[in-house]
Amino acid sequence: MSSGTKYIFVTGGVTSSLGKGIISASLGKLLQARGFTVTIQKFDPYINIDPGTLNPYEHGECYVTDDGAETDLDLGHYERFLNVRTSQANNVTTGRIYNNVITKERKGEYLGKTVQVVPHITDEIKRNMFLLGETGQYDFIITEIGGSVGDIESLPFVEAVRQVRWDLGSNNALVIHLTLIPYLSAAKELKTKPTQHSVKELLSYGIQPDILVCRTEHPLSMEIRKKLALFCNVNLNSVIEAIDADTIYDVPLLMKKEKLDERVLAKLKMTTKHEPDLEQWKIFLGKLKNPLNEVTIGLVGKYVSLPDAYKSIAEAFIHAGSQNDCKVNLKWISSEDIHKDTVETIIGSLDAVLVAPGFGERGLEGKIEAIKYVREHKIPFLGICLGMQCAVVEFARNVLHLDASTTELNPKTKHPVIDMMEEQKKITNKGGTMRLGSYDCKIKKGSKAHHIYGDTLIQERHRHRYEFNNKYLEQMEEAGLKGTGVNPESGLIEIVELKDHPWFVGVQFHPELKSTVLSPHPLFVKFVAAAMEYKGK
Ligand code: GLN
Repeated sequence: MSSGTKYIFVTGGVTSSLGKGIISASLGKLLQARGFTVTIQKFDPYINIDPGTLNPYEHGECYVTDDGAETDLDLGHYERFLNVRTSQANNVTTGRIYNNVITKERKGEYLGKTVQVVPHITDEIKRNMFLLGETGQYDFIITEIGGSVGDIESLPFVEAVRQVRWDLGSNNALVIHLTLIPYLSAAKELKTKPTQHSVKELLSYGIQPDILVCRTEHPLSMEIRKKLALFCNVNLNSVIEAIDADTIYDVPLLMKKEKLDERVLAKLKMTTKHEPDLEQWKIFLGKLKNPLNEVTIGLVGKYVSLPDAYKSIAEAFIHAGSQNDCKVNLKWISSEDIHKDTVETIIGSLDAVLVAPGFGERGLEGKIEAIKYVREHKIPFLGICLGMQCAVVEFARNVLHLDASTTELNPKTKHPVIDMMEEQKKITNKGGTMRLGSYDCKIKKGSKAHHIYGDTLIQERHRHRYEFNNKYLEQMEEAGLKGTGVNPESGLIEIVELKDHPWFVGVQFHPELKSTVLSPHPLFVKFVAAAMEYKGK
């Protein structure tokens, strides 16, 4: 472990979905705003090697990092808050830990020993907990432990936290426990008992939390704070209120008001460099909360009943909206609802349409129908990944009059305008086998993409198996659908845009993954601006 690096662990109790990711990201932001270097990592107790194979309905979006890791959506929050890139090392699951240990065992690296949860699994967890710290780049490593304390699955992680804290001592490692203080409306009272039980549970594993962060719908009175402090053995000033916020982007400021960062620094015996500099953050929030304009943008997708499935897209619109002083109302539209008879009613009144990423689905025809409508009616359009592929299929069918499709939907189509790459055809494993991570994209001078990015060489992240089929490029370009972004090594088309349309762009990559509070993504910024212009007409 790196000397000087401080370790902060964030556990959760009482229920899941309390927002450990947002609390971790907010604390990270405050420390960073004081001039410290920070990264955040998440340890997830499930057996999948990574969330790449998980259904978004169950687990929300799969967030892809520059190095091609398929990770938990909380890493998206870490990047959006800190504006610092994460990588595979920032997300580790039980599956990966066991996989590493079993691989070592097969190589004979345990020298005849019985391989056990303690110490072998816990040692492997600890090794991973220290990986980023050992680079020497960080003053603080914040480690979020997925799940809730008391789950069978999270036990080895909790034990590893106990050991790290013991090994490093209380000046170098601390534990923040995030918990829920429920409000009983009949009694008109906030209740501390679930938190007391949750802390007892942690104590039974040998961990005394240093700080309690309490999710609550109502302010915590001094009486409640005293009660929590007394029964959970924490200092009164280490009972931190985390009241429900209008936006997740308020949370760093709320945590600052509660002095979470100051408590952390004091407990870890760090002298503070300066007060948090949150000027830029406040400007972003000010613009977000005082919009001068408003647009309604349709998000056509498959998983619209669970907005977490498109988390990064929704957040990218918040960043881009603020930049444009514009409130973006996202209208979630299930592609399966769109057909010839409904398209006008559903799409007709929107100021812009985004067709979302997705995999092998029935709703594809609805997406194509929506794209036909926005192409013909000159409504601003952004297609991401599958959305771009649908735009290509739509153009081939309705402009080139080809009996075309993507081989994902119809493997026997006469005109496979979107097809699987040769390398992909040989792959049978599902996990981690797509075209993943950051790739270069060369942009044609004078194109809309060039105007948007203000650059001719960009890097964007990918997660897909199918590609634009270059056999059709010439035909498409002649008819007005231009390939304006190309991978310089493989020649694969990464961006398409329509001539004679005010704003029609399809991208094979996922721009939403790189949008952050301090650098909103140009594609989203310009797309929102196009929606404002369309509305103003
Ligand atoms: N299903 C498509 C592919 O694999 C698109 C994937 C996506 O939208 N992320 O190429």
